[in-house]
Amino acid sequence: MTENQHVERIGRKLDKMVQKNNTDGALDLLRELKTITMSLETLQSTRVGMSVNAVRKQSSDQEVQTLAKTLIKSWKKLIDDYKTFGADCSLLAAQIEERSQIFEDFKSTDIKYKARLRSRISNLKDQKNPDLRRNVLSGNISTQRIASMTSEEMASEELKKIRETLTQESIREHQLSKVGGSKTDMFVCKNCRGKNCTYTQVQTRSADEPMTTFVVCNDCGKRWKFC
Ligand SMILES: [Zn+2]
Repeated sequence: MTENQHVERIGRKLDKMVQKNNTDGALDLLRELKTITMSLETLQSTRVGMSVNAVRKQSSDQEVQTLAKTLIKSWKKLIDDYKTFGADCSLLAAQIEERSQIFEDFKSTDIKYKARLRSRISNLKDQKNPDLRRNVLSGNISTQRIASMTSEEMASEELKKIRETLTQESIREHQLSKVGGSKTDMFVCKNCRGKNCTYTQVQTRSADEPMTTFVVCNDCGKRWKFC
């Protein structure tokens, strides 16, 4: 039975209880729902939230009301997360858990395992770190990879720097090809052996480090760089 079918079945039972005005046994069904890691898709396609809410309204059992409220609250959070982050973070977390080595590494040490999983998820939800989320969602960073990333690697600053460096380099290379640097016959193109090149020197790193030289061959378009 798929997760969808499982949840749908429970939802139907709850609906019947409400129809018959008898919510005996609802608590067991709610407890069963609590054990399921709900995905946004299941939540939307089964509309189980409405069934649970109907039971909550009808039942006079304190325990049923509390558990129903807790479930609805956690599902609302799932939907809010989706709206905020454009991603089903819980599903993503479940995937990371499933596909990653985290579980194998920490099988016996529950606390460590939970802490590690929590740190992944908080990093994914970090408002200041949209790059990490985007990279994981787009598959640039695999769920296996994120499972083994250090917190430094996940940190927004780190990723921001990597992105900035890449962007700056591509801008420079772009500018080089557009406006041109200095024409020279100092370099030999490895591709066509020609000597008709244009070069630009830029400080890519700190000031006391050597400049990076970007070269473009005007004959074949090959680009390279060296320090
Ligand atoms: Zn060339």
